[in-house]
Amino acid sequence: MSFEKKLNKNAGKIIQIGCISCSNETNHEILSSVELEGSEPIEPNFDIWWSQESQILQCKGCDSITFRQISSNSEDTEFNGRPRKHEELFPNRSEGRDPMDDEHLLPSSLHRIYMETISALNNKQPVLAGIGIRAIIETVTKDKDAQGNNLKQKIDGLVDQGSLTEDGSKTLHKLRVLGNESAHEVKAHEPKELNLAFDVVDHLLKAVYIIPHHASQTFK
Ligand SMILES: [Zn+2]
Repeated sequence: MSFEKKLNKNAGKIIQIGCISCSNETNHEILSSVELEGSEPIEPNFDIWWSQESQILQCKGCDSITFRQISSNSEDTEFNGRPRKHEELFPNRSEGRDPMDDEHLLPSSLHRIYMETISALNNKQPVLAGIGIRAIIETVTKDKDAQGNNLKQKIDGLVDQGSLTEDGSKTLHKLRVLGNESAHEVKAHEPKELNLAFDVVDHLLKAVYIIPHHASQTFK
């Protein structure tokens, strides 16, 4: 086994990543970096190699610090044969996901699933988060008494009764597939996909429960 270490090769460079405090992608400066590369013979004429770069980054907007690690190896490749790069950020970016405003106004059974699903998302349990998102949609359709024999028809039923827009239903159908995959194929979705899906869930719940509640209090 052999390996090589390069210090601060990328120090001073600016990259764009999602900031833990600013709520979007911002410029981050690489304060220091360590690059490790190594290879190991497996058979007389066959080596495998790996590489890992660790960086300490600072947001140019709010000064918060992030640790970033990018790793790859010769045994994990994309379709085109290039090595797949794995990026990890600490603190984890979905860790900070908060419940939406006024989430306590949700019906109690729904509130419980909602909070448990956020917890699954924040604790890096992507399979459970996917199942939770499906369960939230199931509960909304049941609660609003949307007609239909299966979840697809019930989502369309929410449109028929005016609880949901056509556009909202298109997104929900995508979520329905996402939930199906979690439950039946135990597919772990990427945190990015799940967070996007959860944005849509928040939007639906606001439209069905939170906004009508405020409207009924305001326009008496
Ligand atoms: Zn920032």
